[in-house]
Amino acid sequence: MTQTEPRAADLFTAERLALARRAAAAAGLDALLVTPGADLRYLTGYHALATERLTCLVVPAEGDPFLVVPALEKPAAQASPAGNLGIEITGFGETDDAYRLIARRLPPNTRLFAVDNHMWAEKLLAFQAALPGAQPGLAGDVLSVLRMRKSPAEVAALRRAGAAIDRVHRRIGEWLRPGRTEREVARDVAAAILDAGHATADFVIVGSGPNGASPHHEVSDRVIRAGDPVVVDIGGTTPDGYCSDSTRTYAVGEPPAAFRELYDVLLRAQTAQTEAVRPGVTAEELDAVGRDLITAAGYGEHFVHRTGHGIGMETHEEPYIVAGSTRPLAAGMAFSVEPGIYLPGTFGARVEDIVICTEDGGERLNLTGRDLVVLPG
Ligand code: ZN
Ligand code: ZN
Repeated sequence: MTQTEPRAADLFTAERLALARRAAAAAGLDALLVTPGADLRYLTGYHALATERLTCLVVPAEGDPFLVVPALEKPAAQASPAGNLGIEITGFGETDDAYRLIARRLPPNTRLFAVDNHMWAEKLLAFQAALPGAQPGLAGDVLSVLRMRKSPAEVAALRRAGAAIDRVHRRIGEWLRPGRTEREVARDVAAAILDAGHATADFVIVGSGPNGASPHHEVSDRVIRAGDPVVVDIGGTTPDGYCSDSTRTYAVGEPPAAFRELYDVLLRAQTAQTEAVRPGVTAEELDAVGRDLITAAGYGEHFVHRTGHGIGMETHEEPYIVAGSTRPLAAGMAFSVEPGIYLPGTFGARVEDIVICTEDGGERLNLTGRDLVVLPG
């Protein structure tokens, strides 16, 4: 790591709150109300558990943001990065009405408040009851625009996450071999995801043989056989809250010739797409770069999903790389490039890298080889 490499301590800055406040004001919102989840963690660094008690960051369009938490959780909130932001952290008692407490602190002419997209319905209804003159909206439109373009500190965090999941892929030969079930392999992979430096192992897909033709197959008790192609799609979240996600397709022993043909097409598509990343290219244009190539090779109907999804403090977030999205890519965006080809009942393949859009083009954060790895069968 060089001296200029951003550190985890640079992640959670008061600047994010200031940008959120300005964005809320520009959108005509009187306040943002953000309960535990990725938005709260993004804005404050506070990784709070969502429970029946209210924890809520209030970002008024005018005035200072403040965080309301159950009194018993105030020490935890203060010990989190939120404690270094210079914002007020207010604890409420077990018999207090936290919704009224917040409503009383908002300006009396509050007309439009926006809640995080994943706020529990019971909390939204309680806010509506406490703010009878105001209309609710979704904060996601405002916050996703901020979250979509990563700061240098966030890019560094995603790079660390990418390196961690790469370490797991490099060890796959320790676990993936004929005679073992997908579930046995996945259990070892999940442990390795933690060993590699993640705080949680979020998903492990091991799709062997025909199961590889189901893109969101997780695991089963199918026994892996010699000659099987195996799709391994894995990811976790690092201690500072950033996600990894990378897919490699392996062969356990020499695969059928038809699989090699399919894989060559897929790899050409994925390579063309990662090389096409640059500011100004739209999401749908990037999708088409791979889809056209796969379609020309005769596999178009078997590429059954979008090219990719944004990634940051959630594994799936904006921008989605999908037909119909005219959103132009911009420097700082982070997203997956993961075309796949799936032949039902036979086999499938997917190759996935996280790519950062920079001024000079795409930077891949997953650096393990993409040529087909044939493990001992
Ligand atoms: Zn994935
Ligand atoms: Zn993905």
